[in-house]
Amino acid sequence: MTSIATLGSHCALQVLKGAKDEGFTTLLVCEKKRESLYRRFSFIDELIMVDSFSEILTDECQNKLKEKNAVLVPHGTLISQMTSDEIESINVPIFGNKWILRWESDRVMKEKLMLESKLNVPKSVKNPKDIKRLVIAKRHGAAGGKGYFMASSEDEYNRKRDKLISQGLIKDDSDLYLQEYHSGVLAYLQFFYSPITEELEFFGVDKRHESDIEGLGRIPAKEQLDIDEIPSFNVIANSPLVLRESLLEKVYSMGESFVEASKRLVTPGMNGPFCIEGVYDQDANFFSFEFSARIVAGTNIFMEGSPYTALLYDEPMSMGRRIAREVKIAESKNMLEKIVT
Ligand code: AMP
Repeated sequence: MTSIATLGSHCALQVLKGAKDEGFTTLLVCEKKRESLYRRFSFIDELIMVDSFSEILTDECQNKLKEKNAVLVPHGTLISQMTSDEIESINVPIFGNKWILRWESDRVMKEKLMLESKLNVPKSVKNPKDIKRLVIAKRHGAAGGKGYFMASSEDEYNRKRDKLISQGLIKDDSDLYLQEYHSGVLAYLQFFYSPITEELEFFGVDKRHESDIEGLGRIPAKEQLDIDEIPSFNVIANSPLVLRESLLEKVYSMGESFVEASKRLVTPGMNGPFCIEGVYDQDANFFSFEFSARIVAGTNIFMEGSPYTALLYDEPMSMGRRIAREVKIAESKNMLEKIVT
């Protein structure tokens, strides 16, 4: 009998609650410091205690998971705490496509996949000398927006970069990726693609609350000028959005072209949950600056389903539950190898 496992962080509660609702045994790889939190939830059947998540790379931890026939559900914590080589070396079946996680972590590969998907991607700026308009400088990997900054000239960029170097957050220019900044309504579009039914489901939209760029908007411009701190885009929370219905057609076509492009560039393609992240400008054009090739924490808003899953399912359907449902369907059809890597 298959069980569902994940790391104790990010969206573990949603994933394991969903797995339990679908009748699975649930396992949590849990750091000792978080034990008391996760023991509160009766839908978690077993905790595999570790000092740090990197222990998932050990044979001991992987053997425990294999004994339970676990499918491991990857999320943002796995990506941010492990290198792509490490993730790919994990010998336990990983839900979705573990090879695509490298394309999420590496900015250059990420841009390639987004362009192949024909998404409207903000232009990247290769050399700070070419900064002609407002750009955002981002650190590589899932840094959660920490240490990102904006600049409208090479001088301003150099000054802020030097500050980050002095804070030990980056070592040099090569740690930063520059992209034109687009102003508008930020939206994080959540999808699920099933390689079994070959159908794309639009699951919901969220908005991220980022500190302290969000706080800056509450301070009058005169006072802002005196602030020396570089505001960061550190995600603190998420809240739900619904889109104008006239935007939905385009949402589906973006998701579908992402799925098609992934099939071409990274076998077996974008299976399972993913998110296309961007901003709607004043003409409702969507500029996508990011994707996540796995479940995003913004789905935690919709533990009881979203306005969009209510249209697809006659029962509360969270992303965590949808993942477990996919495992269940795949098992019943003897197709488990199609949905894990
Ligand atoms: P990312 O790590 O690419 O998800 O970026 C973190 C945050 O920076 C996003 O959630 C947005 O608030 C902001 N951001 C990133 N890229 C852009 C962009 N090109 N234009 C506007 N805002 C952006």
